[in-house]
Amino acid sequence: MSSSLSAQQLARFRQKLESHMATAEAAGDKQQQQQLQAAMTRLRAGEYGCCLSCGEEISAAKLAHSPAAELCNDCQSLADDSDG
Ligand SMILES: [Zn+2]
Repeated sequence: MSSSLSAQQLARFRQKLESHMATAEAAGDKQQQQQLQAAMTRLRAGEYGCCLSCGEEISAAKLAHSPAAELCNDCQSLADDSDG
Protein backbone atom coordinates (compact mmCIF):
# COMPACT_ATOMS: atom_id res chain seq x y z
CA MET A 1 0.00 0.00 0.00
CA SER A 2 1.53 3.27 -1.02
CA SER A 3 0.12 6.72 -1.33
CA SER A 4 -0.47 8.38 -4.67
CA LEU A 5 0.65 11.79 -3.52
CA SER A 6 3.31 13.39 -5.70
CA ALA A 7 6.82 13.98 -4.41
CA GLN A 8 6.05 17.68 -4.47
CA GLN A 9 2.92 17.22 -2.34
CA LEU A 10 4.83 15.00 0.09
CA ALA A 11 7.56 17.62 0.43
CA ARG A 12 4.91 20.22 1.21
CA PHE A 13 3.21 18.00 3.78
CA ARG A 14 6.58 17.28 5.39
CA GLN A 15 7.13 21.02 5.82
CA LYS A 16 3.67 21.35 7.34
CA LEU A 17 4.33 18.46 9.71
CA GLU A 18 7.59 20.04 10.80
CA SER A 19 5.98 23.40 11.43
CA HIS A 20 3.08 21.81 13.33
CA MET A 21 5.63 19.83 15.33
CA ALA A 22 7.40 23.03 16.34
CA THR A 23 4.05 24.45 17.47
CA ALA A 24 3.16 21.29 19.41
CA GLU A 25 6.57 21.28 21.09
CA ALA A 26 6.20 24.93 22.07
CA ALA A 27 2.75 24.16 23.47
CA GLY A 28 3.99 21.02 25.25
CA ASP A 29 1.26 19.00 23.51
CA LYS A 30 2.64 15.46 23.79
CA GLN A 31 -0.32 13.80 22.10
CA GLN A 32 -0.07 16.08 19.10
CA GLN A 33 3.69 15.50 18.97
CA GLN A 34 3.14 11.73 18.91
CA GLN A 35 0.58 12.01 16.11
CA LEU A 36 2.88 14.23 14.07
CA GLN A 37 5.85 11.94 14.70
CA ALA A 38 3.80 8.95 13.54
CA ALA A 39 2.77 10.86 10.42
CA MET A 40 6.40 11.70 9.65
CA THR A 41 7.33 8.04 10.06
CA ARG A 42 4.57 7.05 7.62
CA LEU A 43 5.73 9.74 5.22
CA ARG A 44 9.27 8.33 5.25
CA ALA A 45 7.89 4.82 4.78
CA GLY A 46 5.84 5.94 1.78
CA GLU A 47 2.57 5.21 3.58
CA TYR A 48 1.56 8.77 4.26
CA GLY A 49 -1.99 9.72 3.39
CA CYS A 50 -3.53 6.26 3.80
CA CYS A 51 -6.30 5.71 6.35
CA LEU A 52 -5.02 3.59 9.25
CA SER A 53 -8.42 2.00 9.63
CA CYS A 54 -9.57 1.08 6.11
CA GLY A 55 -6.47 1.79 3.99
CA GLU A 56 -8.25 4.22 1.69
CA GLU A 57 -6.48 7.38 0.66
CA ILE A 58 -7.07 10.40 2.83
CA SER A 59 -7.96 13.40 0.67
CA ALA A 60 -5.20 15.93 0.07
CA ALA A 61 -7.59 18.65 1.23
CA LYS A 62 -8.01 16.92 4.59
CA LEU A 63 -4.27 16.40 4.90
CA ALA A 64 -3.69 20.06 4.09
CA HIS A 65 -6.00 20.98 6.95
CA SER A 66 -4.66 18.40 9.41
CA PRO A 67 -1.37 16.90 8.19
CA ALA A 68 -1.28 14.35 11.02
CA ALA A 69 -4.67 12.93 10.02
CA GLU A 70 -4.75 9.15 10.45
CA LEU A 71 -8.27 8.41 9.21
CA CYS A 72 -10.23 9.09 6.04
CA ASN A 73 -13.41 11.15 6.30
CA ASP A 74 -15.63 8.06 6.60
CA CYS A 75 -13.63 6.46 9.41
CA GLN A 76 -13.15 9.83 11.08
CA SER A 77 -16.90 10.43 11.27
CA LEU A 78 -17.41 6.91 12.68
CA ALA A 79 -14.74 7.60 15.30
CA ASP A 80 -16.28 10.97 16.11
CA ASP A 81 -19.69 9.33 16.53
CA SER A 82 -18.39 6.71 18.95
CA ASP A 83 -16.63 9.40 20.95
CA GLY A 84 -20.05 10.75 21.74
ZN1 LIG B 1 -10.88 4.94 6.47
